[in-house]
Amino acid sequence: MPNVATQDPELRRRSLRLRDLHGIGPELERKLAEIGIATIEDLATTYPRDYKDWRKPTPIAEIVRRALERAVGSQTGESFEEIAVAEVTSLREIRARVSLVSAELSDASGKITATWFGRCGLTRSLSVGDRVFVHGRVSLKRMRGALGVELNVLNHRRMKDGEDYVGAVVPVYPATKDVGSRTIAKVIAANFDVLAESVADEIPEAILRARGFPPLRDAWCDMHRPRTPEAALAAREVLIFAEFFDLALGAALRRVEREQERNAPEIMVAETTLAEFAATLPFSLTGGQRRAIAQIYADLRRPVPMNRLLQGDVGSGKTSVAAAAIVGAYRGGVQSALMAPTEILAAQHAAKLVPLLLPLGIRTEALFGSMGDAARERVRARIASGECELVVGTHALLTDGVSFNNLGLVVIDEQHRFGVHQRAKLRAKGCAPHTLAMTATPIPRTLAQTRFADLDFTLIDELPPGRTPVETYVLRESRKLRAYELIRKNIAKGRQAYVIAPAIDDRSSKSERDSGLTQAIEEYDYVRTEVFPDLRVGLVHGRLPSREKEDVMSSFVRGEIDVLLATTVVEVGVDVPNAVVMVILDAHRYGLAQLHQLRGRVGRGSARSYCVLVSPDERGAGERLDILARTNDGFAIAEHDLRLRHEGELAGTEQSGRSQMLGSLIDDFALYMKAKADADALAASDPNLSRPEHQALRKRIERVEGEREIRVSS
Ligand code: ADP
Ligand code: MG
Repeated sequence: MPNVATQDPELRRRSLRLRDLHGIGPELERKLAEIGIATIEDLATTYPRDYKDWRKPTPIAEIVRRALERAVGSQTGESFEEIAVAEVTSLREIRARVSLVSAELSDASGKITATWFGRCGLTRSLSVGDRVFVHGRVSLKRMRGALGVELNVLNHRRMKDGEDYVGAVVPVYPATKDVGSRTIAKVIAANFDVLAESVADEIPEAILRARGFPPLRDAWCDMHRPRTPEAALAAREVLIFAEFFDLALGAALRRVEREQERNAPEIMVAETTLAEFAATLPFSLTGGQRRAIAQIYADLRRPVPMNRLLQGDVGSGKTSVAAAAIVGAYRGGVQSALMAPTEILAAQHAAKLVPLLLPLGIRTEALFGSMGDAARERVRARIASGECELVVGTHALLTDGVSFNNLGLVVIDEQHRFGVHQRAKLRAKGCAPHTLAMTATPIPRTLAQTRFADLDFTLIDELPPGRTPVETYVLRESRKLRAYELIRKNIAKGRQAYVIAPAIDDRSSKSERDSGLTQAIEEYDYVRTEVFPDLRVGLVHGRLPSREKEDVMSSFVRGEIDVLLATTVVEVGVDVPNAVVMVILDAHRYGLAQLHQLRGRVGRGSARSYCVLVSPDERGAGERLDILARTNDGFAIAEHDLRLRHEGELAGTEQSGRSQMLGSLIDDFALYMKAKADADALAASDPNLSRPEHQALRKRIERVEGEREIRVSS
């Protein structure tokens, strides 16, 4: 074995395995790995979820008082944990179906009945007159007709003569079925110094000191072994700050790196371009659209690759903004690519953009996986030779062996960001294009500042005039027919409608998927034959071959289908202004943001539009959906969604034993902003973290970012 003392401490701590620690054998190591604790650092950052203040035993009279206080009326209230130090003043074993030992414990303040279950033989090791430490659950019980307080003993220890109770604040770790809280507490206590040494403490001390924080290692110790509950709270804040600092610094450095690259084409978009483009449109651009286009043009003129996210609610006209960007790129002499998540959407974009762009001299080519080989070859050749100025397709464009001709702008629709990997793929092809991502799923302020801190944001905060908000109702399953009546009424007026049936989810098992699909098809048969036998009903779902999918979609676009039964494949982007009713079956299965997206498929014209969310009859099932009925504001919905999801994540944490992050971007947002201010200042003063005192920090951020990238790409 090499001399570990001479190694880099970083290397040394990473070469230690969990089974090298005291009290961890292969068996426990395996169980820990199963709950996500695979390394020393994982173990060190498995923090208590709660603490018990066991510094002093509770006087028995106080325990009794607390129990009585909890009892409300005739209810006995919930049991709770207590500790006491008392004398055994009586003791007897009751032989019933389970062995039961009952004792009376007394201290100077009072007495209480204590019971032990399943501890036969206890009367031999314990006797009247002993002084004991006990830990147990206290509850109010009916005893011989009267209410009495009982302590059900979980642990006890006989105290020696004259021994003083030495208490502590006891950490309670997240537990799972296989690894209990006490097991984790034991191994952390047994290896305290080694674990403390593994604590990442690379954040410059000056930064911590300026915030009034102690060194991270001290905070770590206070988290696992606090002297007071208050010390644990203070330590938690410091560790959350450190966690946020890493996150914010990673983003700040990525931004600095992009600023320094300066390898994007400087596209000299003329001042007149916006007006010229606007003149070709059949409508006038909204103020929000104009501001977005102006910002994008300013970005294109710089050699720093644009990394902008355009957010705008469904129907806010993001496609026109994308078209303007493409015109700017074309005028600057570079090729553009537009990518959408599905072929349906990409085809729809191509169909919309061609008439807008062709009059300006921009030739568009669309490349699809469903094309025949010969056609694809021809398109590829035209892209490579520069015989087209815009390429439209799915993300396969990046992997499909396409060589671009001076690609300068990439627009991605319905996505939050152009990924680091996607960018790397293009760099390998010799391009450092400007990128514009567009999304109708708004990013709440909290996420914008954190997970997406490396992006620039543009918000289109107004809808084109003449839109009326979609009227939204939550309806119980048993009244579904009323939704279909609403459809019939609107179709009589020449309108069209969507019915969304349960999705075929990629993540669900094959049989679940099959049942989902069956459900959609069953609903289709039912709707077609029983509900609307006289109407034209179409069906589209993700399992259809893309040719068929497109045939159905284009019939719907042409108005040859009245009611389109679909899975969530129509979720994003599909634009049929004549469709005014959206009925979503089993709406409770979807996230709020997704429902808002689906709702956005209607209300795209000036006609009154409706969205009906059908959810099960059970009480409360539709409660979560009420927010959609209350507001059309995508941001409010996204923020609400994030909060619900965070609560869900926290609940999930309890089960999986270990949380990903200590801090919550919502609840600890103020702390995040402090960490971000410090991280931004550091990145500004030492953009490459090249100063000697930042070396350890740089290594750590590189590692954290590397792991993040692995997670993102897998
Ligand atoms: P989204 O932001 O959801 O992608 P689109 O770009 O698809 O929105 O636009 C929705 C509809 O609104 C399209 O039919 C588009 O032609 C129309 N539109 C876009 N901008 C305007 C505007 N300024 N005035 C009127 N209609 C507009
Ligand atoms: Mg769109």
